[in-house]
Amino acid sequence: MEQQLQQLKEEALKKIQDASDVKELNDVRVAYLGKKGPITDLLKGMGKLPAEERPKMGALVNVVRETVTEALESRMTLLEEAAIQAQLENESIDVTLPGRPAPAGNHHPLTRVVEEIEDFFISMGYEIAEGPEVEKDYYNFEALNLPKGHPARDMQDSFYISEDILLRTHTSPVQARTMEAKKGEAIKIICPGKVYRRDNDDATHSHQFTQIEGLVVGENIRMSDLKGTLDLFAKKMFGADREIRLRPSFFPFTEPSVEMDISCFKCGGAGCNVCKKTGWIEILGAGMVHPNVLKMAGYDPSVVTGFAFGMGPERIAMLKYGVEDIRHFYTNDIRFISQFNRTEA
Ligand SMILES: [Zn+2]
Repeated sequence: MEQQLQQLKEEALKKIQDASDVKELNDVRVAYLGKKGPITDLLKGMGKLPAEERPKMGALVNVVRETVTEALESRMTLLEEAAIQAQLENESIDVTLPGRPAPAGNHHPLTRVVEEIEDFFISMGYEIAEGPEVEKDYYNFEALNLPKGHPARDMQDSFYISEDILLRTHTSPVQARTMEAKKGEAIKIICPGKVYRRDNDDATHSHQFTQIEGLVVGENIRMSDLKGTLDLFAKKMFGADREIRLRPSFFPFTEPSVEMDISCFKCGGAGCNVCKKTGWIEILGAGMVHPNVLKMAGYDPSVVTGFAFGMGPERIAMLKYGVEDIRHFYTNDIRFISQFNRTEA
């Protein structure tokens, strides 16, 4: 029986050593020390032994049981620590992994051009004025010296909502509204915003586009003030060595009226595809505010004068960035828009 006990101990110790995880070790514990295990059986069988052998055998069984229990416990501690270690390794964060990129957006090229123009005029003391895009016929046409039936209305095919309401065809109604609100005071504003015309969309036309107009009204405002302002503007937007040229033109709300050209920024005036071989590029329209427009807004044209100008940010953006089709600005193709990096000057 002693030999049987020895064999049992060695067998148990080997299985304990071989157990590779906590569950396996628990199975070994139940198998050897459990109520139905061989050690319990041996203790139960003690009664069959001769009385003089019982104490010796009892002690031996107890020693074997303690040895096996100790081996189990120390192995258990080891396996538990290993399990915790493995868990920690699994859950740890790998700080060497590259971070997730946070994509940064760009300003839309039109927004950039509009803000650049605004910055220039704000630095010259102008304020920004805004008005409704759904406008009264009165402010869009009549107050600007374009009474009903005036032939120049045909230049601006309009989206009418009712007989007296339309989508504004230019930002000029903001000028009319500002003059009316200022009640004879001096004015120095620019009006950026969206405008609408019944154009067929193609590479250079869109039924919706943006405009920026400027208006200065006060005493002693002269044509030379307009020319000086436009000259500075051209140099700021297209380079310090730009020259400007004013050509006579017609607008119902200004008299005299001019178109302003700048010397070509690509060829410097020699002639190229950007300036269509002329050396000049048309940028905007301008003029001295028509006395009728001043009168309708409550100003006395014998006391105050004013100048106004208007331009299309799309055209300026197309020239500055070499965009060939105006529709690119509105189709929201991310491949187009992402070319205008925010860090670019
Ligand atoms: Zn050129």
